Amino acid sequence: MDTYSQVVDRLRTVFRSGVTVPEQFRRTQLTNLMSLVKENEEQIVKALHKDLAKPKFEAVLSEVHILTNELHYALNNLRSWMQPEYASKNLATKLDDCFIRREPLGVVLIIGAWNYPLQLLLLPLVGAIAAGNCVVLKPSEVSAATDNLMAELIPKYLSQDCYTVVSGGAEETKALLQNRFDHIFYTGSQNVARSILQAASVHLTPVTLELGGKCPCYIDKGLDMTSAARRLAWAKFFNAGQSCVAPDYVLCSEATRDALLPALRQVLEEFYTKEPQKCPDVSRIVSQRHWTRLMELLKKSSGKIVLGGESDEEDKYIAPTVLVDVAEDDALMKEEIFGPILPIIAVESVEQGIEFMNRQEKPLALYVFSNESSVVKKVLENTSSGGFCSNDGIIHMTLPSLPFGGVGASGSGSYHGRWGFEAFSHRRSCMLRGWALERLNGLRYPPYREDKLSW
Ligand code: NAD
Repeated sequence: MDTYSQVVDRLRTVFRSGVTVPEQFRRTQLTNLMSLVKENEEQIVKALHKDLAKPKFEAVLSEVHILTNELHYALNNLRSWMQPEYASKNLATKLDDCFIRREPLGVVLIIGAWNYPLQLLLLPLVGAIAAGNCVVLKPSEVSAATDNLMAELIPKYLSQDCYTVVSGGAEETKALLQNRFDHIFYTGSQNVARSILQAASVHLTPVTLELGGKCPCYIDKGLDMTSAARRLAWAKFFNAGQSCVAPDYVLCSEATRDALLPALRQVLEEFYTKEPQKCPDVSRIVSQRHWTRLMELLKKSSGKIVLGGESDEEDKYIAPTVLVDVAEDDALMKEEIFGPILPIIAVESVEQGIEFMNRQEKPLALYVFSNESSVVKKVLENTSSGGFCSNDGIIHMTLPSLPFGGVGASGSGSYHGRWGFEAFSHRRSCMLRGWALERLNGLRYPPYREDKLSW
């Protein structure tokens, strides 16, 4: 078996041969990736079920379809993305060709996370292939079934010379990171991101960080609470709350909270029955470690559980759970929850809600539910977050024409659609000059004279 440095050297030699650059090559690989997903959908759904008890519907919607949509979008737009972008010119460059050329970066590393193990590995790959790179893919070891399936399928469908899967955990990833890559695309936690940045700094490698954070949802008064509860509960409890863009906590007035709670109770029953543990639409927590972490948070919280709260360690199950009377310094507010636990925090006004959000790190997504466009506008204009969506959750990230990424502690860089292609491309500034107007150039050559400046 090759060592990691042999793997990277081999890919670099292949990259330098130029094989990944022609449009037709990129197109073929993207089409092959589409076949991988379509021909193996059943196996993919099974692996996701093994890893997270992911319901088939959620697996198809949030992993398979999002990927096939991205592939269609890339195949439809690839030619235009690859075209040179002509730049505006001034008098001195009037006769020149001035343009931006998108060039592949070289050998790039994509490190995936476990919560959407297919999507988070292969969606960046679409951008990397479209941009003409060679790629090392490192799936998350935590979602082992999907990791194994990817290691088996990718070499069957994609060029083995250009794309390689390396499996392993933290130690293997650290060893891999000792090598020089031309870009590192990392999805995962903020803590690990710090060591990724350290490793990247040795080779001055540019990095895209797709991280998480605590995504707030401000809920205004006077809403149709059943619709609000449906949209909130769907976004929060999809994949058992293990989504980087899941609403992490709710901010609302006490009166709104009192109207929201009965609606949430009714909606949770409607979605997941009276016995959610037996409901096939409820995912499980990915590992015993994460289950214990979530239960510790619940134990340490001084909030009051008003919905759910049941759990089963062996089954890695935690019921969709809602808490009230949660203070800003509560255990649940110290880290991203990343599970089916929703604290509701009372604020007196939208202004107080905005101040609350602005005291926290900038989140990956920020939500506001309101009938009033002035309230939506106020929250939009007075906060910062990777993405923003009013009157719904998660759904903004399904549109490939919107860049997806964080800001501040929730990440840097973005992808999806054209933005994925851009993330893995170098924008090379090009000026192609001829030999005309040499006399005009005399104005900038020595001997320098004052009057040449005022020309
Ligand atoms: P994880 O445990 O799967 O880790 C992510 C990747 O980092 C894995 O491939 C893992 O092997 C690798 N890794 C782990 N420890 C490492 C180390 N010490 N050095 C180098 N590599 C290491 O996933 P996680 O970190 O638990 O992911 C959850 C976090 O990811 C949450 O914060 C979530 O919000 C965030 N997330 C962000 C996005 C996004 O698109 N912005 C998407 C999903 C998840």
